[in-house]
Amino acid sequence: MTRCWLRLADDDPWGLDNLPYGAVRTTDGRQVAAARIGEQVLDLTALGGFDAVFAAGTLDAFLAAGPRVWREVRAALTAMLTDGAQRTRVEPLLLPLAQVSPVLPFTVADYVDFYASEHHATNVGRIFRPDGAALTPNWKHLPIGYHGRSGTVVVSGTDVVRPAGQARDPDGTVRFGPSRRLDIEAEVAFVVGTPSPPNRPVPVRAFTEHVFGLALLNDWSARDIQAWEYVPLGPFLGKSFATSLAAWITPLEALSAAWVAPPPRDPAPLPYLDDSDRPYGLDLTLTVELNGTVISRPPFAAMYWTPAQMLAHMTVNGAHLRTGDLYASGTVSGPEQGQRGCLLELTWAGSEPVRLADGSHRSFLQDGDEVVLTATAPGPHGPIALGEVRGRISSSRS
Ligand code: MN
Repeated sequence: MTRCWLRLADDDPWGLDNLPYGAVRTTDGRQVAAARIGEQVLDLTALGGFDAVFAAGTLDAFLAAGPRVWREVRAALTAMLTDGAQRTRVEPLLLPLAQVSPVLPFTVADYVDFYASEHHATNVGRIFRPDGAALTPNWKHLPIGYHGRSGTVVVSGTDVVRPAGQARDPDGTVRFGPSRRLDIEAEVAFVVGTPSPPNRPVPVRAFTEHVFGLALLNDWSARDIQAWEYVPLGPFLGKSFATSLAAWITPLEALSAAWVAPPPRDPAPLPYLDDSDRPYGLDLTLTVELNGTVISRPPFAAMYWTPAQMLAHMTVNGAHLRTGDLYASGTVSGPEQGQRGCLLELTWAGSEPVRLADGSHRSFLQDGDEVVLTATAPGPHGPIALGEVRGRISSSRS
């Protein structure tokens, strides 16, 4: 393998095989676009070149530039970090990760959240509708989703204020107040770079022409607000108060070793959702930590619907893509108890609290609790890491 002139272990999960992109604020107050290498970030705004796509200090223009530019920039960065002759020019533009603060790396256009895990949908169906079928009749025919609130997507590390809202207590009383059932959803989000024209659905096979990369996402969910409001139009205020996105966007180019076949589908999807031409699943292993205790390890490879199918479905009605569109997978849950991606499932609606390392138990989140999502993917020379999503709950302001 090619060597970086930075001192990195061969198996560093943030090595040359990874090279994710983000935006950070430096100690002197500048906001710059950046690539992460090891425990440092390369200031792409100061680096210049690349048709000035990083001049604004965000990834917006880079995302819009499309796959040719994405490939050229990655190849150029790899060359700069391996060619000793470029070291004197590039090294002064490296900043220690610990000395910069991440900011939201791009302008989020539309935000959609799917519901693509069969294990999650089945568990939630059993909890919310114990007397009915676990899956709704449409579930295996289309990737179910809803439009969320792009304006409240926040970068990892941002505190999350406990939301207030209406809920109905078990005795039928309708109350207003801070949510008592605040939850997480461990998800993987996909970032659209190349836009598409109106009324031209994006086929499954065009996925890599439009989607730049992916990032972990925590879809914070107030279950008590959600359970009361969601009939019949779906999630609303129980979700829209905050959605946390990782600071580092992993380009699809870094995930070439991670593609896997999704689980078998029965019934076969309609032709516009046929993704049998190549493997469109991704072998990502997520970890959910609550106050430092690992409470789950959800496997993304178990997802029923693939990100390419979600993209095809999202545009099949003629809706076009914009640069910065963000769509998330829905809670990632596997078949095992220790693979569930939210507390609702892990605690079976609070009836089986999880035990933390300090001896305390949680049914749902308490003020002060901190949740961290991490993940790894197979790389060409060993696992690569996805950027973490970190968030701490602060008390309600109402
Ligand atoms: Mn969700």
